[in-house]
Amino acid sequence: MPNNHTVSLEDLRRFFAKVVQDPEKGCWLWQGYCDEKGYGQFRFKEKVVWAHRFIFECLVRQLKDNEDVHHKCAVPGCVNPAHLDAVTPQYNRQEQIHRHRMIKILLNTGQTLFPVEEITQEVVSKEIPF
Ligand SMILES: [Zn+2]
Repeated sequence: MPNNHTVSLEDLRRFFAKVVQDPEKGCWLWQGYCDEKGYGQFRFKEKVVWAHRFIFECLVRQLKDNEDVHHKCAVPGCVNPAHLDAVTPQYNRQEQIHRHRMIKILLNTGQTLFPVEEITQEVVSKEIPF
């Protein structure tokens, strides 16, 4: 994507005009168009690209064909490269399932989202079907 074309300063200005920072979590929240799952989209060279993938390729490195960009912060609209990781699609899917389970358990037990660490351990050690 971006690395195959030239990203101009103007492109980056346009990009960051649509970003606001979340002072608490440090997320860079995309204010432009998002799909129904909350992933940001950005128009670049007459094409619509994923905002998080675009910024990852601009600021971190080029992605391989089989790589997804995973949000470590679990905020789909976040475009902070420090919160993004390049992973295989299989890993990303596993991570989504895992997170989904964790949230369900938290809701069922009425616990708050923290401490996640113990709960994560619990989830990992058991296979909980739903
Ligand atoms: Zn984030």
